[in-house]
Amino acid sequence: MNAAACDEFDPTALTVEQARAAILEACRAVTGTRTRSLETATGRVLAADVHARLDVPPARVSAMDGYALRAADAREAGSRLRRVGQAAAGHPWDGTLPPGSCVRILTGAVVPDDADTVVMQEHVTPDGDSVQFDRPAPENANIRGPGEDTRRGEALYRTGQVLGAAEIGVLASQGIAEVDVLRKPRVVFFSTGDELVPVDEPLEPGQIHDSNRHMLRSLLSRYAVKARDYGIIPDDEDAVREALESAGREADLILTTGGVSVGDADYITRILQERGEVGFWKIAMKPGRPLAFGRFGQARFVGLPGNPVSAMATFGLFVGPALRSLAGLPVGEPRTLRARLCEDLRKRPGRTDYQRAIVETEDGVDVVRSAGGQGSHQLSAISRANAFVVLPREADGARAGEWVEVLPFSELY
Ligand code: AMP
Ligand code: MG
Repeated sequence: MNAAACDEFDPTALTVEQARAAILEACRAVTGTRTRSLETATGRVLAADVHARLDVPPARVSAMDGYALRAADAREAGSRLRRVGQAAAGHPWDGTLPPGSCVRILTGAVVPDDADTVVMQEHVTPDGDSVQFDRPAPENANIRGPGEDTRRGEALYRTGQVLGAAEIGVLASQGIAEVDVLRKPRVVFFSTGDELVPVDEPLEPGQIHDSNRHMLRSLLSRYAVKARDYGIIPDDEDAVREALESAGREADLILTTGGVSVGDADYITRILQERGEVGFWKIAMKPGRPLAFGRFGQARFVGLPGNPVSAMATFGLFVGPALRSLAGLPVGEPRTLRARLCEDLRKRPGRTDYQRAIVETEDGVDVVRSAGGQGSHQLSAISRANAFVVLPREADGARAGEWVEVLPFSELY
């Protein structure tokens, strides 16, 4: 493939969906595993099936604060039983229950063997050492049976399960302190460009601060990945080769920004083809100039455009899903909504537009308006925005009052 510019009408350009599918196909889950304690397992993916070790609850326990008794001893309203003991959570009562007696019981306490029901305390009138039951005692009430939550030996979770708060809680209830999870994908990222200067150094004429790398680091921090920052690499064939060679040895994914424009692409192509493969994909979307995708060494390579808005948009649409896939997480289609457009939006037919926009609910209706400057260098507009308005490839714009497709940033970032 060569680095031809994106023609608005290029029939060979990939759709966003085609590009996504191809990237996901190439970014299958990593295979290495690690043992992790529950403290550090949130968001990780199980690398082995987990079975229950225990019955939970482990015994019959009370679901209420009240009294444990034989239901037959309080068949009628007004029955009086002698209170012979107390069972609290962590403090079982180990006596035997004589006929005509009951035991004070608190939530989570083991129900004495001879008792077959628990009456909630709101339905009794205590009186010295005895208790009057205000209504007939129901049978087998307010008792949680052993294994009602999980049963020893049952399959709890399969390989591939993502561990969220509820799963961590279940594992803890089983006394499982450690789990085998997939290792985190390793990502190396760097910026390319002779004009780029670190944020903490003053600018000379013609220079700009390197914003992409900070944006990427921030974006990457939301994923279960090990990210390594190689800094700013100048537009120099040897320097880029050196960075890629090192990254190609240690990373699962190499992420760069800049240097994939038509003028730059030749030397990047040369380097990438030496020890890998690369395609400069024309994707029928805007923003998003040619996106480089391939391999270098053992790593997949994604070369994002240098323009910051394009870099952020293509990260959301392609890199985020790739990272999830590498981590073994499920990857769904981003969910869009329909909103009513407050103003005319302009575009040229040929590419799908992802215009930066603000969507909000007014009088129960989702409405959307432009977030301002739509240039791919205008990062401040994406910062004001909370969504993309997705305008179809063949459309020449959209008019105020039309219902348009909106992709909330919460689906991407
Ligand atoms: P390129 O893809 O290298 O041709 O860059 C396209 C545009 O994005 C140029 O205006 C660059 O100066 C700008 N650019 C590239 N990399 C960065 C970066 N890391 N931070 C901010 N702007 C960048
Ligand atoms: Mg550049």
